[in-house]
Amino acid sequence: MSKIFTLLFVIVALAYVFLLRSFRLADPSNSVNQQYRPLFLQSSVARSLFFLNRPGDGRFEYFSPEKDTVLVEIDYQVGRNPDERIEEWIANLVLETLRKDVEVVVTEQGEILDIEGLPDKALRSLARSTRSRVSGESRSYLHIVYISSSLDASSNTGLSLTANEIFIFKDRIYELSQKANVRSLIEQSTLKHEFGHLLGLEHVDSEDCVMSESVEVYEKRKYQFDAIPLDFCEESLEGLRRIEEDAL
Ligand SMILES: [Zn+2]
Repeated sequence: MSKIFTLLFVIVALAYVFLLRSFRLADPSNSVNQQYRPLFLQSSVARSLFFLNRPGDGRFEYFSPEKDTVLVEIDYQVGRNPDERIEEWIANLVLETLRKDVEVVVTEQGEILDIEGLPDKALRSLARSTRSRVSGESRSYLHIVYISSSLDASSNTGLSLTANEIFIFKDRIYELSQKANVRSLIEQSTLKHEFGHLLGLEHVDSEDCVMSESVEVYEKRKYQFDAIPLDFCEESLEGLRRIEEDAL
């Protein structure tokens, strides 16, 4: 009998290691990841067990009918304040995509060192150290960090590296325009774009869509700054509808 249990244990352990390795490979041609990841994302236990924490991995939690509010924690480096309309933008964004309420907490983080060009590793650790997540049964969680700029994605105005976190690169936005209203538009569209990634959306080809890659990497196209996209196009809206259906 004990041999059977040993055999079972070995099989389960091997399956665990196999899935863990498969899910950690970012290669889109990895078919195990493609096929089974969405199934595992449906369960918060499986998400923790397999460390599923890429942008989009929290999509079912955001859409879950059991979560009626999104707790939004915004932390900013001194001098990299969010736009004064940030709370209004977030509330509208969450209402438009999830039809839910928000609770927003904005905090200046005095202890973040004033350095430019942070590598992804430093960004991840910064996100961990500023996060004061208060878990709640009925709330999902979004963490937004306002910081100088990125080293690994130096042209980016924003970036998402994990399932619940967005970085906004304020110095990069500052370099792009002298005009406050244009900077404000860039910040708003970047925020919307990154939140789209957290909800499971990919880039689209159409450049007048907020999910166009050129929204977060402004060097790719010299924008006419009066035409910065602020809306999800039909392709992205259709994507959101499909994700919402899968979450029910
Ligand atoms: Zn993007």
